[in-house]
Amino acid sequence: MKEKRIYNFNAGPAALPLSVLEEIQESFLSLNGCGMSITEISHRSKEFDAIIDDAIARTKRLLKLDDKFHVLFLQGGASTQFCMVPMNFLSEGQSADYVSTGTWSQKAIKEAQIQGKKIKVVASSEDKNFSYIPQNIQFSSDARFVHITSNNTIKGTEWASYPDTKGVPLIADMSSDILSRPFDPEPFGLFYAGAQKNMGPAGVCLVVIRDDFLQSVPDNLPTMLKYTTHASKNSMFNTPPCFAIYTVQLVLKWLEETIGGLDKMQELNRKKAQLLYQTIDAGDFYKGTAMPDSRSLMNITFRLPSEELEQKFVKEALANNFAGLKGHRSVGGCRASLYNAVPLEAVQALTDFMVAFERKNR
Ligand SMILES: *Cc1c(COP(=O)(O)O)cnc(C)c1O
Repeated sequence: MKEKRIYNFNAGPAALPLSVLEEIQESFLSLNGCGMSITEISHRSKEFDAIIDDAIARTKRLLKLDDKFHVLFLQGGASTQFCMVPMNFLSEGQSADYVSTGTWSQKAIKEAQIQGKKIKVVASSEDKNFSYIPQNIQFSSDARFVHITSNNTIKGTEWASYPDTKGVPLIADMSSDILSRPFDPEPFGLFYAGAQKNMGPAGVCLVVIRDDFLQSVPDNLPTMLKYTTHASKNSMFNTPPCFAIYTVQLVLKWLEETIGGLDKMQELNRKKAQLLYQTIDAGDFYKGTAMPDSRSLMNITFRLPSEELEQKFVKEALANNFAGLKGHRSVGGCRASLYNAVPLEAVQALTDFMVAFERKNR
């Protein structure tokens, strides 16, 4: 039976490649002919070992990670990383720099402060409602790390390139733009991403940690909140989210084998975002909320001339098979999330709809 599919611009959980969903459907009752579903097999089975090892190998190839980086798949979402990062890396007397570029940065900062850790907010774009990425930041030379949010899912801004921290390791929350473009992993001590934006379903969080950071983790931390626990057991200290990891593995395979890697993915993502930004910039009906030099390629935030028109836009869009265009409840407006799995064709259809909507409502 062919199910109805619509254009999905959700911010997270979000669109997955159709071919991946179909592969899950096909293998769901019997994974690789083993007679059991991925949701029924042991995480200690050879079937699951092959899945997690392949997911790790593909992550390393796609992100060009050498052997000093460890790839972990953890639970608790990116939000648990807000807590684990300062817990694992800031001991007595150490301090870290944080850059505040929106809601998720603020939450990361709060989790460090709750633990009484010494941190310094070295830059913030709050003065202009988080509509830009700060430049020319003075980092502390003695900071243990610098924490940034690579893409601000709610405010629609993204670091076009990562800041020069003069040798201080970077730590980044990459939840909403991981695998959307290539980058140099060398300056990073750690980066993490909840899977449900660009990698798979909710329930698993990718953590990439450099060996010297892993070695510095103290012993006297709660077992589940210690990176060393998970690294020493290949992310299987306790039962991992097998289904989520399986889906991530299929998405990674799709990225490598169907898309052709992160350079190709970036090219496609640029095309999609350009098309939508062009439509927004073409007149004064739609207005982008992020400063042009800070615009995200993943989450495109925009306003219409009035809140009434915004409501009408979201409602009519849905009636025309475009889902997920309402802005985050904290900021209002509209947002189209153009994650990896959103095809160019969906953005073309959306921009056609936007042009027609403007004509009727201006
Ligand atoms: C969605 C999101 C989060 C929260 O992720 P959870 O997995 O729900 O904890 C954190 N940071 C960013 C940038 C996000 O987009």
